[in-house]
Amino acid sequence: MSQPEYLAALLEELLGRGQHDPHDATVRRAVRLRARDGCEYCLLPTAGQVHVDHIIPPALWDRYTSGRLRPVVPAPDRRGPDHLGNFAWCCAFCNTAKGQQVAHRIASRTYRLFDPRYDSWSEHFVFAHNCLFIVGITGIGRATEQALGLNTPGLDGPLGTRHDAILVGRYPPYWARQWLVWPGA
Ligand SMILES: [Zn+2]
Repeated sequence: MSQPEYLAALLEELLGRGQHDPHDATVRRAVRLRARDGCEYCLLPTAGQVHVDHIIPPALWDRYTSGRLRPVVPAPDRRGPDHLGNFAWCCAFCNTAKGQQVAHRIASRTYRLFDPRYDSWSEHFVFAHNCLFIVGITGIGRATEQALGLNTPGLDGPLGTRHDAILVGRYPPYWARQWLVWPGA
């Protein structure tokens, strides 16, 4: 069975359940595979402690579904806070920084954060400076870059960790290299 077939079978089995436990080993495996084994925000390959992030925090779920969590617009097919459709594979840096946030203000406007289930990474971000930096290229991308501190400096922060992953050829992940924009290209 190929990996895509395995993931499809896993998702089909899990989707038969109405609710998913983010700590369940099978659920974590499905979320990890679906994310192609990298943080769905900063694309850092899985290493150390990786979390199943609630894209919409459970505490905000009622406000979300009733449309009071502006500027976040509820997705009609998102079935619940503890459901695969509300989960993202998320590195410790992004998870800690995100906390309960779903939006971020830049100047006079508040943007919702990047939603790995409904948004495409390459539409909102680009790599810069030999992939050391992740730069938001839309309002949502810039808000997420700031709110999650995607370029927070420091040896032990996301930038230092990304730098180490670049040095050993683990970043960007092979499947994201199609998004590299070369200067002058
Ligand atoms: Zn991350």
